[in-house]
Amino acid sequence: MLVTLKAISKKAMAGHFAVGAFNTTNLESIRAVLDAAEKLNQPVILQHAELHEPIAPLAVLGPIMVAMAEKATVPVCVHLDHGEHLDYLKQALDLGFTSVMFDGSALPTAENTEKSHATVALASKYGASVEAELGRVLRPEGGGGSDDLSDLPPEACYTDPEAAKTFVADTGIDALAIAFGTAHGIYTTKPVLDVGRVALIRDALHLPLVMHGGSGVSDEEFHRAIANGITKINYFTYMSLAGGNGVRALQKNSTDPDSLRFDTMAEASRQAMQRDVEHAMTIFANR
Ligand SMILES: [Zn+2]
Repeated sequence: MLVTLKAISKKAMAGHFAVGAFNTTNLESIRAVLDAAEKLNQPVILQHAELHEPIAPLAVLGPIMVAMAEKATVPVCVHLDHGEHLDYLKQALDLGFTSVMFDGSALPTAENTEKSHATVALASKYGASVEAELGRVLRPEGGGGSDDLSDLPPEACYTDPEAAKTFVADTGIDALAIAFGTAHGIYTTKPVLDVGRVALIRDALHLPLVMHGGSGVSDEEFHRAIANGITKINYFTYMSLAGGNGVRALQKNSTDPDSLRFDTMAEASRQAMQRDVEHAMTIFANR
């Protein structure tokens, strides 16, 4: 059944677990995530990132995500991840997405606040939830540009609890993505997480907190982050790598010419992604 981020997060906060939010860029990953959630009987978030538009058009995949979420036997939130343009967020809301993220983390705080607030005003017309971000989660795969923060000390990008309190009061958002040492993409150096900061932000806000960039984070660190207030964990890169590895394993161990067919590869990747998502969901559920 289709639910909002607010509803799904409420359960997670009360139950001291985190809901996995998986970017689904194709039919194989949508099925992998929903099948994993139903098998484990856990709520889940399907999400679509604006930056994936060239490989996975929202207009094509969005309706499929919503339709499959409606049919699921577990609560499913369909969320727009890292939206940077209000018209794109509106497109998702028109398709029936139950939650949207406005990512103004690269903007000056005043502009981030204003646009996050505008997103809340827009989403409220649809009964949808809003996630916003304060602080900067690194994007190593971005290869520089405005996201090249390598000259700054890591703490300069972390979310400040007092600033977060003001930001939440000024915007009315339902969930806040925070920066405390994680990075997007494949990790190059082992992340050091400032979990104490998560607890300070939780105590200041009493709001669902979102962890982006779980790459390279150990099972134990995920548990510590959840114990200190993280209730939504964005997970994509390693699920996608698992899908790729599933195809490699298929071709390595097989002399069957069918292993070179795309539909055979797609099926192998779907199964491998489901196994990886099940593992992630088990950790996030604190089991
Ligand atoms: Zn992210």
